[in-house]
Amino acid sequence: MRTVTGPTDRVVVVGAGLGGLACALHLAAAGRQVTVVEREPVPGGRAGRLAVEGYEFDTGPTVLTMPDLIAEPLAAVGEKLSDWLELTPLDPAYRAYYPDGSTLDVRTDTTRMAAEIARVCGAREADGYLRFVDFTRRLWHLERDHFIGRNLDTPADLLNLNLLRLLGMGAFRRLQPKIGEYFRDPRTQRIFSFQAMYAGLAPHDALAIYAVIAYLDSVAGVYFPKGGMHAVPKALAGAAEKHGVTFRYDTTVERVATAHGRATGVITADGEHIPADVVVLNPDLPVAYRDLLPPRRSLLPPRRSLRRLRFSPSCVVLHIGSRQAYSKIAHHNIHFGTAWKGTFDEVIRKGLLMSDPSLLVTNPTHTDASAAPDGRQTYYVLAPTPNLEVGPIDWRGGMDRRYADELMRVLERRGYVGFRDGAEIQRIITPADWADAGMAAGTPFAAAHTFGQTGPFRPSNLHPSLPNVVFTGSGTQPGVGVPMVLISGKLAAARITEVS
Ligand SMILES: Cc1cc2nc3c(=O)[nH]c(=O)nc-3n(C[C@H](O)[C@H](O)[C@H](O)COP(=O)(O)OP(=O)(O)OC[C@H]3O[C@@H](n4cnc5c(N)ncnc54)[C@H](O)[C@@H]3O)c2cc1C
Repeated sequence: MRTVTGPTDRVVVVGAGLGGLACALHLAAAGRQVTVVEREPVPGGRAGRLAVEGYEFDTGPTVLTMPDLIAEPLAAVGEKLSDWLELTPLDPAYRAYYPDGSTLDVRTDTTRMAAEIARVCGAREADGYLRFVDFTRRLWHLERDHFIGRNLDTPADLLNLNLLRLLGMGAFRRLQPKIGEYFRDPRTQRIFSFQAMYAGLAPHDALAIYAVIAYLDSVAGVYFPKGGMHAVPKALAGAAEKHGVTFRYDTTVERVATAHGRATGVITADGEHIPADVVVLNPDLPVAYRDLLPPRRSLLPPRRSLRRLRFSPSCVVLHIGSRQAYSKIAHHNIHFGTAWKGTFDEVIRKGLLMSDPSLLVTNPTHTDASAAPDGRQTYYVLAPTPNLEVGPIDWRGGMDRRYADELMRVLERRGYVGFRDGAEIQRIITPADWADAGMAAGTPFAAAHTFGQTGPFRPSNLHPSLPNVVFTGSGTQPGVGVPMVLISGKLAAARITEVS
């Protein structure tokens, strides 16, 4: 494994996103002197929090899976997850609503889930589900240690017995036909393959290795932290601080300082030079290259790795504080439109808004009433949209409001009676806002997980020519989402603490 060369005692981590925080904890555990420099007043980055008139909204992730991966950086410094976070398993993990009016509750317990599938789709489908669970469980165990949880420098690092096992399982074929081997009903096919979108791809384009995402949320379970998702970065930052990590909030890094082909620290917007032996960059990777690293041609990474990145679709998030409650919904609700392949094509290839939207509606107050004033509810509506490269939609000047209104009308047609009238608070976040927050192509979901942008083909977490600059977060390996960025923090720390 390639590692940072030279001294590694003092590390500056730029950004207190989940990747930066996990990295800081692993580094502190290994005895490094760590300073985290964060431009915002709080940790969390995309896992942020918005407070409006007594309502509290999580601004980023809502589906929390694999809490073991939160426990890991805490355990590195000798802390226990349960001392820092109170997690409630969500049951059901999701409720799926189909255009024919049927619903399916996704339950983590496989016996209960098989019974639910038998109820909705018949016994044969339930049998397929049990075979699918077995397939994805094996997939996860094979992928976890050998491909996802390891620093990969070259494609040759992939060559091990598990690769052959994965090939044998058909993991490098397309996801959609693989799903078809287990499920015949379009409803189960959808609920166990839509997760490809989390990897930035349509199920008919994604590789079957991404069936692990369905395993992570549908089988391994979905949790809700007391205090909302933002409690996760708060917990990690609190533990890091307790174990000696220094936090500099409200401090924007303007650039990485270099001398003699090495980083010497970072320069803040106030002109302060914070010295470091190693710099870890957590901002969105292409933006970090563009804005924070020296523009000198010799320092740029090979063209291939950044120029041709294909970005994931983006999303609009609508935050609603409301007087209306809906007794039939769950914490997470997925409303599928009638269209399927066409919806992915619109968003990913054609750069169009969904003509027949599939939407995620999260109702955090279903589990935690304290997120809203007495008797009120919070709703988080997530609509996939094109990123700004594929669909350069002008989100300003009224488009944002018009789209919010359209989404609310769709929800009213799908059973959320009085959704617009009940809304006391409305906030809409669009791809233009993600771009303003420093995310390439206006997407918070980074480079898509195409084969050519996965594993050793994804931008490396080691700078190609500055030997003491390391990356963490969703733009580098292993990839997007809370579980992956927590792993990315560990991988980044390993580049610094392990001896090659
Ligand atoms: C709407 C939405 C929904 C999502 N849903 C889910 C979900 O349900 N489940 C899931 O697992 N994942 C989900 N994700 C993805 C997940 O949130 C991200 O992959 C993850 O949080 C990214 O973490 P990160 O550490 O890579 O980056 P970030 O969180 O972006 O952290 C980067 C940090 O760097 C700071 N920074 C940037 N530039 C500078 C600078 N110049 N100086 C100082 N600091 C700087 C930023 O302020 C930020 O704190 C969602 C994301 C969004 C936005």
